[in-house]
Amino acid sequence: MFTTLLSKRAPAYADVPEEKWNDWRWQLSHRLNTVEEIEKVFLLTESEKNALNSSGLFRVDITPYFISLIDADDAEDPIRKQVIPTAAEMVPFTSMMEDSLAEDRHSPVPGLVHRYPDRVLMLVTTQCASYCRYCTRSRIVGDPSATFSRHEFEMQIEYLKRTPQVRDVLLSGGDPLVLAPKILEEILTRLREIPHIEIVRIGSRVPVFMPMRITQELCDMLGRFHPLWLNIHVNHPNEITQELADACDRMSRAGIPLGNQSVLLAGINDCVHIQRELVQKLTRIRVRPYYLYQCDLVEGAGHFRTPVAKGIEIMEGLRGHTSGYAVPQFIVDAPGGGGKIPVMPNYLLSMSDHKVIVRNYEGYVTTYEEPTEYKAHDPKTCKYCQSKRMEPGQTGLTGLLDGDEMFIKPSGFDEIHDRNGIQHRLKDSKKWQPLGIGAGDAVHHDEA
Ligand SMILES: *Cc1c(COP(=O)(O)O)cnc(C)c1O
Repeated sequence: MFTTLLSKRAPAYADVPEEKWNDWRWQLSHRLNTVEEIEKVFLLTESEKNALNSSGLFRVDITPYFISLIDADDAEDPIRKQVIPTAAEMVPFTSMMEDSLAEDRHSPVPGLVHRYPDRVLMLVTTQCASYCRYCTRSRIVGDPSATFSRHEFEMQIEYLKRTPQVRDVLLSGGDPLVLAPKILEEILTRLREIPHIEIVRIGSRVPVFMPMRITQELCDMLGRFHPLWLNIHVNHPNEITQELADACDRMSRAGIPLGNQSVLLAGINDCVHIQRELVQKLTRIRVRPYYLYQCDLVEGAGHFRTPVAKGIEIMEGLRGHTSGYAVPQFIVDAPGGGGKIPVMPNYLLSMSDHKVIVRNYEGYVTTYEEPTEYKAHDPKTCKYCQSKRMEPGQTGLTGLLDGDEMFIKPSGFDEIHDRNGIQHRLKDSKKWQPLGIGAGDAVHHDEA
């Protein structure tokens, strides 16, 4: 393992006995959220004090462990900016939205977001170990009066039971790993009783905010619900401590594949070199970088936004320059509920009928000669093609390629283009018979 990893404790906690410091319940009950408490660890700026003293702010809470990672002398510290509010948080910006991903519209029952055909996002709590200032779900997260709801949970389970297309459930919130262990165990047990649910995933920042929560006992419990995957949320290399490495090691040994999702944040990690260090450090603790998100258009996060181009520049600096395992996908989660859209530099430069021109990370431009004798895959004899189980209406461009559909039309397209077309006097209507897919809506719909 590493020899260079830090394990830090702010001077304010020097006298806390080891067994308390390493007890996650102590960490939770000693979280900081006021000017007075935080100033025992480091001095705040005027902007930070203003924000902390204002009302209506998204909840603040920071574990003693996580606040200890902040450099007390650096007002620009990348961890500080993630958890300490500033006055900038209260500034609105163009196109700011409360629910920028339109999650509420995609919720068939409260707390369940069914956006994609085969998987759902299940929000099981509104509580976290600490609160990220750029939280995409700040409209619901942090409300101390609304934690796990048994009534909502039963409705979610009922929906999942009657929706067999769902094979993947992603537990999030809030943070599922702050739930009482018995409740988390019950959620996982109930999900496992549903035969069509093949995999369960957890999205959690607990390993980062409070690695002592990842006890052997918790890992043993989680390990009973395989296949179980887990994504953590690390944004900056300074968050990778000895404690996080140990927590990840325990989860990996319990058979849980680990991924990381980070958010591209101005003044925190909007730098190719920080990102390269981050993803390399993650692979050293056996965490596979999964997604790097463009910051959502969420209230309070305007000052964290970067141009999308910054993410493309970072991807240019990762792909080819370091291990493929260390390269995440850069994702714009489309406002209005369009879902996750991968964005990257162009590697395909041009093509003809027999070759493609591609370039690599070094700018080396080369050609790939296409095969002249390609025996096309035949869907009619392929048993996988025959048994395909795609949701009608959600097949997208792959539906166009498959030949099930011929076009995707914006709404209102037919009305706009209906100019009361009349037939030319010379056209013989008996001469032209529609053939196959796309030959006419009537034919097409009759077949389907
Ligand atoms: C992110 C997300 C998922 C999971 O997406 P993957 O690309 O499969 O990781 C599922 N549902 C919703 C609503 C999401 O936002």
